[in-house]
Amino acid sequence: MNTDFPYAQIVFNLPVKGPFDYIVPPELRNKIKRGVRVWAPFGGRTLVGYVVGLSGKPGVDISRLKQIKSLIDAEPIIDAALLKLSKWLSKYYFCSPGEAIEAAIPGGLKKGRTSVKPRLQEKSPEAQEASKSPLILNSEQKTALREISISIEKSQFRVFLLHGITGSGKTEVYLQAIKMVLEKDKSAILLVPEISLTPQTVERFRERFGKKVATLHSRLTAGQRFEEWKKVKEGRCPIVIGARSAVFAPVKKLGLLIIDEEHETTYKQEDVPRYNARDAGIARAREAGATVILGSATPSLESFYNTSKYKYKLLSLNERVDGRILPATKIVDMREELKIIKRFSVFSRMLEEAIRERLKRKEQIILFLNRRGFSTFIHCRRCGLVLKCKRCSIALTHHSGKRKLICHYCNYSAPYTEICPQCKNAYLGYSGTGTQKVESEAARLFPAARIERMDTDTTTTRDSHRRFLSAFKKGEIDILVGTQMIAKGLDFPRVTLVGVIMADTALNLPDFRAAERTFQLLTQVAGRAGRGDKKGEVIIQTFAPENYAVSAGSRHDYHAFYEKEITYRRELGYPPFLHLIHLTLRGKKEERVVQTIQKLALRLKTASAASKAEVLGPAASPIPRIRGKFRWSLVLKIPTPIQGTQLLENVLKDFKIPPDLNLRVDVDPLGMM
Ligand SMILES: [Zn+2]
Ligand SMILES: [Zn+2]
Repeated sequence: MNTDFPYAQIVFNLPVKGPFDYIVPPELRNKIKRGVRVWAPFGGRTLVGYVVGLSGKPGVDISRLKQIKSLIDAEPIIDAALLKLSKWLSKYYFCSPGEAIEAAIPGGLKKGRTSVKPRLQEKSPEAQEASKSPLILNSEQKTALREISISIEKSQFRVFLLHGITGSGKTEVYLQAIKMVLEKDKSAILLVPEISLTPQTVERFRERFGKKVATLHSRLTAGQRFEEWKKVKEGRCPIVIGARSAVFAPVKKLGLLIIDEEHETTYKQEDVPRYNARDAGIARAREAGATVILGSATPSLESFYNTSKYKYKLLSLNERVDGRILPATKIVDMREELKIIKRFSVFSRMLEEAIRERLKRKEQIILFLNRRGFSTFIHCRRCGLVLKCKRCSIALTHHSGKRKLICHYCNYSAPYTEICPQCKNAYLGYSGTGTQKVESEAARLFPAARIERMDTDTTTTRDSHRRFLSAFKKGEIDILVGTQMIAKGLDFPRVTLVGVIMADTALNLPDFRAAERTFQLLTQVAGRAGRGDKKGEVIIQTFAPENYAVSAGSRHDYHAFYEKEITYRRELGYPPFLHLIHLTLRGKKEERVVQTIQKLALRLKTASAASKAEVLGPAASPIPRIRGKFRWSLVLKIPTPIQGTQLLENVLKDFKIPPDLNLRVDVDPLGMM
């Protein structure tokens, strides 16, 4: 009975802070609970609100309070632990508490709905009995599992970084750790990047744990997702496998959280709340006293740095479980190639020859482009030089309208030129090649080969991703051309050649993580070749063979890469040494955008003068105009995100952003476009 609590604190999914006090009408007083949704009047409308508190006294004058209209849920839709997590989210990521809660609610329940019926023709994921038993671990896996088990046994919050090369058997360690947690009557959440959430991954867990596994990801329909969410909420499934949002799965007694491929960018949500599921997950585990395993072959600099500071415990798996060796890697210097064949060609002679050979032997080939074309980077095709900002060490972005090269962190600019400042040749230019171009070139050179392209353009339907991969697995495709989509944890035993068309595309992104991305991609791509009995080969084409990210990536040498990269991050004050907050102001009139952001920058600089914060910019964004809106950005460098969001909050108290402009705040941004 809550009759002593005639007032409720309510938050809304709006960019307004709250919570707001409401009167609970007498007939609802013994029904209302924290964590339920209600219909409540707000700003002339009736909206869905979340009850985050109940009290005997309101925070403000009673005469101004309005009444809740009705209850939506009989039982809380969100429990105390998740309410706490949403509070953390709103503080850390600078969003309202209501926006943060909304992230934890399954999509089907938004707008006040209470259930979603799966359409008749949809089958829920097949329930099956557990049929397989644990595999025998090698000594490295055993050591790792032993450390993890101590923490699980003690119900201790502890973070492990499981650094294991591709094929070193991380999944088996996950499986056996989950088993231990279940034996303690607790739950486990396994997060995987959306991209690797393939039926094969899920199958492996179902074979071991049967009906105890629920899955939550975007390839399920709203109805299927709601069914899975309900199973978890009702305690029927103590294991949840899912993409980013599964970090909010309503499991009871979280004992273990595993984040596979912890460095992946897909863990970061681009819309409000702009959270990183890895960091939100660690915050959740800390409250729950749960063990965390971060798994990766190429850990993020942040996570590896934390092991060096003994915040996380490092566990290494250096052997491939089946003793297969990593593929041989060759680097083709495209500068030399250009000198000899006198024109830019998608395929070097070495790569072309290697493809021919594989086609003859009926083996499969993957051709890989780091990402879809980002045409604004400029480099010298003679000496490989990339023009960078001296202060920020960020590739300069070409703004063709202004005929200028601009650093979009600090706004340094230089006039556009075709003459390379290093070798003095007129070789500065773009080398943009998209997946389509690679596909058509391949079709021209190898007319008899069966070629398919897999990127975000060709995999728009729910099922297309799976169809491509199964056709490839069956051997119905000879050459698969694709973006990072194909670089992730998939096993193709008949692939013996991987060609990286252009390693520089990622290297020249105007982003301080460009080298890290390049290293990760090259390492992962290389892991795709030679997973069967046949020996694999990787050919990397690049204009910058001497770059440490390229050379360490080709040798699978994480430590060599880390040592270089961490030094550079320390010198320039990038994460993990400082946090970044990326502010983007958008609007239809460029003048207004520029004026407003300049004023905001000034205010922030004044307000942060006494602290260790640094304000960079404002500068035009690398893509300066999208859908008619101009975009200018500021970068805030700050020791902790909370300091940054507090600073911002203080400044925004008396600096109102005009209504025709929109301010986007991204804490710990992953891409700064
Ligand atoms: Zn040059
Ligand atoms: Zn700069």
